[in-house]
Amino acid sequence: DKCSLSIFFFQLERTFIAIKPDGVQRGLISEIMSRFERKGFKLVAIKITVPSKDFAQKHYHDLKTRAFFDVLCDVFSSGPVIAMVWEGEGVIKYGRKLIGATDPQKSEPGTIRGDLAVVVGRNIIHGSDGPETAKDEINLWFKPEELVNYSSNAEKWLYGVN
Ligand code: UDP
Ligand code: MG
Repeated sequence: DKCSLSIFFFQLERTFIAIKPDGVQRGLISEIMSRFERKGFKLVAIKITVPSKDFAQKHYHDLKTRAFFDVLCDVFSSGPVIAMVWEGEGVIKYGRKLIGATDPQKSEPGTIRGDLAVVVGRNIIHGSDGPETAKDEINLWFKPEELVNYSSNAEKWLYGVN
């Protein structure tokens, strides 16, 4: 019916979120994850990994002509990253809101970068910037079988449908 169709639709939106090496080293993993979890988004994949520089360059391929590309990829591959897929209605766009502006000096208080970071080169978190990049980044970081499909008891209370 209409209701279960719309529940199905919510579950289809997924985004790729990574806590960068600076966020991991600063002990901000649970702080960052809790902001997505408390909002009502659902964790469907997670791993800790040290990306190679080559992998970092693949992840950031859109930025390869930028002056900061090499340093960015060095920092991104300098230690463990928490790679995650979060699911929920509007999670791609709203995830970016939770994260805040790219430059922490311009991020609003209340956002992850606004509250927890100071400079653009150490802004602690990555989030996909749209539906196409979300799909590409999820495919780059995870095998299909690493994505876990499950329903959570909170969903009917979050979305108000049965
Ligand atoms: N970055 C940087 N200097 C800049 C712009 C970006 O070091 O002038 C870094 C920053 O860590 C940022 C990443 O490159 O998070 C990717 O840039 P993008 O424009 O995609 O920003 P994001 O999507 O992460 O907000
Ligand atoms: Mg980006």
